[in-house]
Amino acid sequence: MTRETLTEIYQLLFERFGPQHWWPGQTQFEIITGAILTQNTNWTNVEKAIANLKSADLLGAESLRDIEVKELAELIRPAGYFNVKAKRLKSFVDWLFDNYAGKLTELQNVATGQLRTELLAIKGVGPETADSILLYAFDRPVFVVDAYTARVAVRHGLIEPEADYEQLRDLFQSNLPQDVQLFNEYHALLVRVGKEFCRPKARCAGCPLEKLPHSVGD
Ligand code: SF4
Repeated sequence: MTRETLTEIYQLLFERFGPQHWWPGQTQFEIITGAILTQNTNWTNVEKAIANLKSADLLGAESLRDIEVKELAELIRPAGYFNVKAKRLKSFVDWLFDNYAGKLTELQNVATGQLRTELLAIKGVGPETADSILLYAFDRPVFVVDAYTARVAVRHGLIEPEADYEQLRDLFQSNLPQDVQLFNEYHALLVRVGKEFCRPKARCAGCPLEKLPHSVGD
């Protein structure tokens, strides 16, 4: 039942919204940088910060390792929480140099579970950031969940409101085929419906999921 519902949700969202073309980013390194910068801010601000890094020719592991943290913070200022995020970018790059000679290519053969554990051990990298990096930068079949995912899943009776990140991730990951492209598109579609319809105050009228059983509790 859960399996069928999750598949139907995907189909309805895809029929309405079409492909979302995530994750915007020209290189693996840019996707990772975006995943770290997007915490607690919107994507437009991240784009400005990434544009600054690009014009300063800093969108690479070596250049980010060598730049002063203060200078980096100034460049990524548009992304908000720039001092904290500069340290997080530095932590990621330090981990990459300490363990993998600063090369993302070295991560290709690391098993997904191990890579996830290592990413989560980097200061400031939480589950959503780690999973976004795994899915969008490394094409690993890991389902990314967030507040939008939780809202839709709870309102459609797929999970209890108290469910934590891992339970929510498991709901999707263990009931869907392990398909990177599907996971990629599904997450993006949930974000889209969450922003446009499934807001804190739900706008069910006209929502692509309106015909499925749901309860918004208000
Ligand atoms: S807005 Fe309503 S119909 Fe749409 S996803 Fe949320 S609860 Fe479901």
